[in-house]
Amino acid sequence: MKQPLPQTMGQQFGRRSWAEPWKIKMVEPIRMISQEERKRAAAEAGYNTFLMRSEDVYIDLLTDSGTSAMSDRQWAGIMMGDEAYAGSRNFYHLEEAIQSFYGYRYIVPTHQGRGAEHLISQALIKPGMTIPGNMYFTTTRLHQELAGGTFVDVIIDEAHEPSSEHPFKGNVDLDKVQSLINEVGAEQIGYISLAGTVNMAGGQPVSMANVRALRQLCDAYGIRIYLDATRMVENCFFIQEREPGYADKPIAAILKEFCDYTDGAWMSAKKDNLVNIGGWLAVNHEDVFDLARNMVVVYEGLHTYGGMAGRDMEALAIGIEEAVQDDHVRSRVDQVRYLGQLLIEWGVPIVCPVGGHAIFLDAKRFYSHIPQDRFPAQTLAAELYLDAGIRSMERGIVSAGRDPETGEHRYPALELTRLTIPRRVYTQAHMDVVAESVKAVYDAREETRGLKIVYEPKYLRFFQARFEVIGQ
Ligand SMILES: *Cc1c(COP(=O)(O)O)cnc(C)c1O
Repeated sequence: MKQPLPQTMGQQFGRRSWAEPWKIKMVEPIRMISQEERKRAAAEAGYNTFLMRSEDVYIDLLTDSGTSAMSDRQWAGIMMGDEAYAGSRNFYHLEEAIQSFYGYRYIVPTHQGRGAEHLISQALIKPGMTIPGNMYFTTTRLHQELAGGTFVDVIIDEAHEPSSEHPFKGNVDLDKVQSLINEVGAEQIGYISLAGTVNMAGGQPVSMANVRALRQLCDAYGIRIYLDATRMVENCFFIQEREPGYADKPIAAILKEFCDYTDGAWMSAKKDNLVNIGGWLAVNHEDVFDLARNMVVVYEGLHTYGGMAGRDMEALAIGIEEAVQDDHVRSRVDQVRYLGQLLIEWGVPIVCPVGGHAIFLDAKRFYSHIPQDRFPAQTLAAELYLDAGIRSMERGIVSAGRDPETGEHRYPALELTRLTIPRRVYTQAHMDVVAESVKAVYDAREETRGLKIVYEPKYLRFFQARFEVIGQ
């Protein structure tokens, strides 16, 4: 008699496992750090994870910015750098990649996302103007304010509720935009600042139906829409998964369609585009392009490199193409969701539904006994480091900063600690270690009292502020 074929583990348990669409060719050793060392390093850094040395970190989930692993093809591209001052061949490759995958007409390279934010804000905002957007982002709002504008949040209310399961929590509330237009007048609106997968709301997506309706509304008033395309590819994955009519469309097609509803975009290529440094601005109107291209030579570099080396532009052009592959995006988002699922199963309060690039721990519920002016999210970031050498980031009252008029803290509704997953860097085993550490810190939550601020810089204070532990 013939023996039946041996079953795989997956089949035995009635499931089919899935794995990353890449294999590892080169490894970077990381160091386990003792508890004593962690205590010393945390105190030296003023309990601010931005002030820590990377060598003192075991698993680094500070950010997904510039932390992606490049592919063998991108590294090969690095060797193909054309380091001519003007007209590098890599610039033309980059221009072509942006035009073909995002669909915009004119491209201005910048050193990273904020360089592009600076250019677009200065080009389009006159003092006194209002810029509506689907929730603020730190550097984006600051550049809008420095140009004399005022940012107004027009995201749907559900975005501010960590437990709302709305599938598109990044959506713009069109009624809020309409009332703002009625209030200040369309000519006082600089542009709509639209972000794909809203970072500060927990990586929440915008639907195609929403951007389509927004375009209609804006067309009626001659208002332009500019997109923060930083994590737009992840946004497209959620459209493919959740929005009727998109299940069979490739990510690349969804991206193109979404961008078609906007007039241009700025990009931190350090996120979606799979490079360690770089950014770009892309616009459809020649007048805006002229302004931006003129300014880029003052602030960034010549208009055919904008602060990037030729090799960086080559790696970026290749990264853009890799970033829109369906298998890549699915594996990226599913790894984030794997971590989220473990935490949900263990009862840890997180922002739901889980977004595309990070798990956002809901520090208000996690440390319900710590008042917001004792920085619960900052405290949680410090505790995760102390527990297992895991580095995360505060996205709450410290990031929100002070009101420029009154000098008081801004008290955001969301008080979150972000565990951001770099692309193609960590394995599922790393995710298990992280989940178990979060659980341990959660179990010990009653003993934690919060932090007090002892040093605070004027701009973007979360980067450099220092704290001390409040005792028992
Ligand atoms: C990172 C980021 C930026 C700024 O880009 P940098 O490359 O860090 O200058 C802008 N918007 C969003 C949503 C981001 O995540």
